Amino acid sequence: MIENAACAGDLTFTERPYAEQRPICFRCPVRVECLEGALGEKTSEYTRAGLRPDQLAKLRGLRKASVVAVCRGCGAEFLRASNRQVHCSVACRQAWSNRRRDERRAVAS
Ligand SMILES: [Zn+2]
Repeated sequence: MIENAACAGDLTFTERPYAEQRPICFRCPVRVECLEGALGEKTSEYTRAGLRPDQLAKLRGLRKASVVAVCRGCGAEFLRASNRQVHCSVACRQAWSNRRRDERRAVAS
């Protein structure tokens, strides 16, 4: 728990039902900071920033999948849609596979 948080000093917060925790989180002045902290953890044991542990886990998964990556073709930063995407665009992927093909031809001749 963070200082100034709406739940700070509420020793029973973690044991309350979610329906009671939610409104406390939603009027909390440090909700964003709380969410940042929660997403930085591997798992959460209780409600943080108005989200249940299972909702936080889902959000962590989304964040991981949409991480900023560096394109293997042009070196530009891009938001990747999946862990397997290594190029920023179709053009970059095409250019990369063309180059690979040319290299193979050069080796063969
Ligand atoms: Zn690129």
